[in-house]
Amino acid sequence: MSDARADEATMSGAAPSGAGKASERGPSRASERLEPRVRDRMPADFREAVDFHGHLCPGLTIGYRAARMTMERLGVERGADEELVGIVETDACGVDAFQYLTGCTLGKGNLIYRDYGKQVFTLVRRADGRGVRVSMRSDALEPDPERTALKTRVMSGEATDEERAWFWQGHVERALELAEMPAGEFGTVTEVVVELPPKAGAFDSVICAVCGEAVMEPRARVRDGESCCIPCSTRYSRGWEINA
Ligand SMILES: [Zn+2]
Ligand SMILES: [Zn+2]
Repeated sequence: MSDARADEATMSGAAPSGAGKASERGPSRASERLEPRVRDRMPADFREAVDFHGHLCPGLTIGYRAARMTMERLGVERGADEELVGIVETDACGVDAFQYLTGCTLGKGNLIYRDYGKQVFTLVRRADGRGVRVSMRSDALEPDPERTALKTRVMSGEATDEERAWFWQGHVERALELAEMPAGEFGTVTEVVVELPPKAGAFDSVICAVCGEAVMEPRARVRDGESCCIPCSTRYSRGWEINA
């Protein structure tokens, strides 16, 4: 579990906003639950990314900065006619901001996820493969040993209420710090040319011989001479398959 994922898990688990009746939850938009002094410092598209993601955190801010920097260097807007492809090298919070800002989404098929565990985001023009890569600098945030120690206590549920409040307040402060630092201190920008995979076409479905559910043909497996889906094909495995 990456740090960002751990934060996310605990934050959503700890946040009272996820429980109780609607009337007890307060404003439904995450950005409206922020303190006004925080919200007022944030550009509108950043607040919208917070609404999409569900909270403000340093991880989301990394993706926000990367999206803005790649879009500005490429000279494109969200929803521009120009077709864009996003490549993300992390599955942490920042991917939500990057998807929201650039319009490159998993569902549209123009977001490529590479499971490298790196805070690196690339935005590419499909027409010529030219793109911009932003890599967050490893020294963008000062290490904070006190905070790291406290984080362990917060994550394990040992922290006091005051410690927890202090920790989450620091979370917001670090997000703002990342959002407002000069671009050159945040990340390294390089222009790249990327060979993109061809656009995914439409595929026929086959019916899984085991569970009876439809599965797109390129994902079907053959077991005992019959087509089946991946989960059914691995049901008799020894459990070490990557997709088991
Ligand atoms: Zn987050
Ligand atoms: Zn099946």
